[in-house]
Amino acid sequence: MKRNNIITLIVFIALFLGAIGISVTFLGKAQAQAVSGGVPRIFQLSVENNENNSAFLNIKLDKNLNYKIFSLPNPTPRIVIDMARVQWSMGRGESGVISSNGLIKQVRYAHKSSTESRIVVDLAGPAKVVSQNLTNNMGGKILHIELAPTNNAVFAANVPKPAQQDAINSLPSPISPKFSSKKYTIVIDAGHGGHDPGAIGFYPNTFEKSVTLASALYLRDQLKRDPRFNIVMTRDSDVFLPLEQRIIIARDIRADLFISLHADAAAVGTNAEGATVYTLSEEGGERSRRLLNRDNWTVVPPNRSRDNNVTEILRDLTQRDTKNQSAVFAENIVRNIRSAGPLTSSSHRRAGFFVLLSPTTPAVLLEMGFITDKEDQDRLLNNGFRAKQMGGVARAISEYFDGVDLKNRGNH
Ligand SMILES: [Zn+2]
Repeated sequence: MKRNNIITLIVFIALFLGAIGISVTFLGKAQAQAVSGGVPRIFQLSVENNENNSAFLNIKLDKNLNYKIFSLPNPTPRIVIDMARVQWSMGRGESGVISSNGLIKQVRYAHKSSTESRIVVDLAGPAKVVSQNLTNNMGGKILHIELAPTNNAVFAANVPKPAQQDAINSLPSPISPKFSSKKYTIVIDAGHGGHDPGAIGFYPNTFEKSVTLASALYLRDQLKRDPRFNIVMTRDSDVFLPLEQRIIIARDIRADLFISLHADAAAVGTNAEGATVYTLSEEGGERSRRLLNRDNWTVVPPNRSRDNNVTEILRDLTQRDTKNQSAVFAENIVRNIRSAGPLTSSSHRRAGFFVLLSPTTPAVLLEMGFITDKEDQDRLLNNGFRAKQMGGVARAISEYFDGVDLKNRGNH
């Protein structure tokens, strides 16, 4: 066995043991072990109802969690998850409710005592736990608990003895049933494609259209693991797509966020390297304008387009209020990709775009690096770099929507 294979095996075993650490018995026998490095933080609870009437409860957290899970039949069927005290980091305070409409009707959470926390899953009918999986997600973890309908006998078999039913009804009543597990739609736009190769690399057989697609696909796969996100690609193969078409895609599905991926180009003899994030605002310097023209991102101002359809769309799209949202998101990206590789000296710029999707849709363009620079090109073609940089972008997107969640809840 080669050394690499041995390392892979060790990593696998470590992951496997990590997964076992969270397995539990149904009757409340599993006990919490000491947790190192502070109490677990729970960032999100979300529900996915499946067509076959089963459902997932997804718990996003920062580390492994020891818990026990059991059924309670009265007054209504419930599944209860008890754990040593956690920190609720969902921006909703110390208790809350996530409503749903399927097998899982709602999920409540609160501290049960000074040492324990509890999640209660209110069910439409008796249900059993089908699977429990802990997966890694953007530096944290997601615990997926799958429930499926069952009969009363099976349900009753998972009810703990009366002595264990302490403080069962001590949870606060729902603070508001209105908070739902809203899905956010994210449009990922891989720049160029088809007969438009974009910039040509340091080595002439490298094209911008290929590195943008590879990174876009990687980002998609990262984001798919977050149940909050619905991902739409403007393209997922080597095809040409006019700019207007990319915008229309985002607009028609009422995207919550738009990110366009590109690779920079500099004149021969210049030493430009590093990534830059552009927000799509109407301000912009000379360099931005040059860049945008090269990438065909400068859209004709609304009243000067030849095509009425486009004019109509662009008028809608030109919304200055979005600038702030975009800037918040852009700063998130800069912070999260800093460790992946170099950034240009002005890593976040406001570009001269007319393209904005709606007053609440942040839109940014990420120049992932200079494909015309030897080191940058090597990075852009390197899977390790791609994983780091796009992992950072995925974290930035996740953080951005954590903030949106927080703000939305503040309005209720
Ligand atoms: Zn480009």
